[in-house]
Amino acid sequence: RESWASDSSDSVISSGSDSDGGLYKVILLGEHGVGKTSLARIFGGVEDGAEAEEAGNTYDRSIIVDGEEASLVVFDIWEQDDSQWLQNHCMKMGDAYIIVYSVTDKVSFEKASELRIQLRRARQTEDIPIILVGNKSDLVRSREVSVDEGRACAVVFDCKFIETSAAVQHNVKELFEGIVRQIRLRKDSKED
Ligand code: GDP
Repeated sequence: RESWASDSSDSVISSGSDSDGGLYKVILLGEHGVGKTSLARIFGGVEDGAEAEEAGNTYDRSIIVDGEEASLVVFDIWEQDDSQWLQNHCMKMGDAYIIVYSVTDKVSFEKASELRIQLRRARQTEDIPIILVGNKSDLVRSREVSVDEGRACAVVFDCKFIETSAAVQHNVKELFEGIVRQIRLRKDSKED
């Protein structure tokens, strides 16, 4: 199993450098059962006993991306209760969003589009990083949504796209690195 920092040039997580100072809030959205908790737990290092802090359904961790440290707090609270308040709050509070569907479940894919529309409505004037995630890519024989369909959907909704498998830990690290890169791209263009 790879470690998070393994493919970056400096692999030590430094607590002192604090290069961009930010703590970014990342919200997981998606239908029940698509793999949100599984992805969050891998990010949080729960599966391999790493140094992450887990408090309820939030996962706090620093990762090195392109040689620079970034701190993310991943919120897996979308389904915590049915309250409209919480869901509205989720739509407002994120610095970035991960919209997850399962490639084995067409309905969850359709739901992902709805969530994207809802998010656009809630954050009309803002350009927030969003990654559409087709999870469960390991379940080849029960696939209902092709890679091309996923990619096309992301183009229509103007967001990034990646397929992952929480079960075999494929592309999970890349997903969270991608989130950090998307956040940085927007930050850098603001500073210019
Ligand atoms: P959530 O409701 O979106 O938080 O989904 P969970 O993370 O609880 O996952 C729902 C079920 O799908 C669990 O039984 C997981 O073990 C399973 N699961 C999650 N991700 C994957 C995956 O990538 N591949 C496979 N085969 N199963 C997965």
